Amino acid sequence: MIKINENYLKLQASYLFSDIAKRVAAHQQANPDIKLIKLGIGDVTRALPEACIKALHSAVDEMASDDSFRGYGPEQGYAFLREIIAKEDFQARGADIQADEIFVSDGAKCDSGNFQEIFSGEIKVAITDPVYPVYVDTNVMAGRTGVAKDGRYQGFVYLDGNKENGFIPDLPCEPVDLIYLCFPNNPTGAMATREQLKVWVDYARDHQALILYDAAYEAFIRDTDLPHSIYEIEGAREVAVEFRSFSKTAGFTGTRCAYTVVPKACRAYTEAGKEISINPLWNRRHTTKFNSVSYPVQRAAEAVYSAEGKVQVKALIDYYLNNAGYIRQRMEALGYDCIGGENSPYIWIDGKRGSWDFFDLLLHQAAVVCTPGAGFGKCGEGYIRISAFNSFANVQEAMERIGQALK
Ligand code: PLP
Repeated sequence: MIKINENYLKLQASYLFSDIAKRVAAHQQANPDIKLIKLGIGDVTRALPEACIKALHSAVDEMASDDSFRGYGPEQGYAFLREIIAKEDFQARGADIQADEIFVSDGAKCDSGNFQEIFSGEIKVAITDPVYPVYVDTNVMAGRTGVAKDGRYQGFVYLDGNKENGFIPDLPCEPVDLIYLCFPNNPTGAMATREQLKVWVDYARDHQALILYDAAYEAFIRDTDLPHSIYEIEGAREVAVEFRSFSKTAGFTGTRCAYTVVPKACRAYTEAGKEISINPLWNRRHTTKFNSVSYPVQRAAEAVYSAEGKVQVKALIDYYLNNAGYIRQRMEALGYDCIGGENSPYIWIDGKRGSWDFFDLLLHQAAVVCTPGAGFGKCGEGYIRISAFNSFANVQEAMERIGQALK
């Protein structure tokens, strides 16, 4: 008899985006003439930078000729991309990361979901709340939790984010082995300072723990005092893995390219307590289960680091940041407390009522779609997330309508 992995039955169905879609569809059907403005889902809306398009076209042309055609590439990514990433994203910021510590992939979602595979089923996992749900569900699938009770899985250590701690959670009260951190944060837009990250790095060093650091929104950091990588923090090489993505940086959500950094010094332990470098473990996992990102897409990613690519990427992010700043300023003027919107495309707003009530109010009174914070965890109740991914004209109109609706 073929038996299933029973852990899948523990998964709480994520009703968030399907619930949103249902409510939006019902409202649109009842009001067919209304123009809805969607500031909900975190997908980008603007075209790929011209430098990436040029690189894509020329790589496609290479594939059209037997002389320059490429078949399977190295699973970890082409050297041209790994080298430029190490140099531009890390060494240029004083972080000691080498090309063979970079693993190119087709998404930070897969990498942040898959990474837990190389650790024991027995480890204690710390999850922030609110949270990007991938970290939670993949550990449930792997059997590291019990069943869910009141919206929380037994066995996780939850790290609460709230107004008091600025949605930068405090250290856990009980020992944990694996810690998921995400800065700039999805959904809250909060960003940790060097000092705050140092506290986590020191914790991981003191407790033989490991940090999985998701920096998918790194490109939105503009404050020069803030760290772009966890490897800018002393001691992080031994205790942190970092996920990066071209999705939000350069509009690659539909093109797919990302990478994971696993320093050779980064360690975990055997059952007997022997220290093991996890770089070869991840290399083994990656080369066994993944067959590299397509050549044209890696060339397009490489173009992000060209002189013209850098200018275009900055302009792209500046466009969204301008939207974000505008949304935050308008919501604050209406008397709402906000986090994010600076160094982040997300604005996290205290709605002063239930998340879904605020969602419905904005949908019905302003025809604007946001995301209810409760969908990201218990601590998100009472909040909504507004995303800056849209045209400035739409953002202006949305804020005008919200202003009227909340008068
Ligand atoms: N990590 C976070 C925190 C995200 O919000 C997202 C996408 O929304 C991802 C990772 C996924 O990135 P990718 O498109 O590279 O899979």
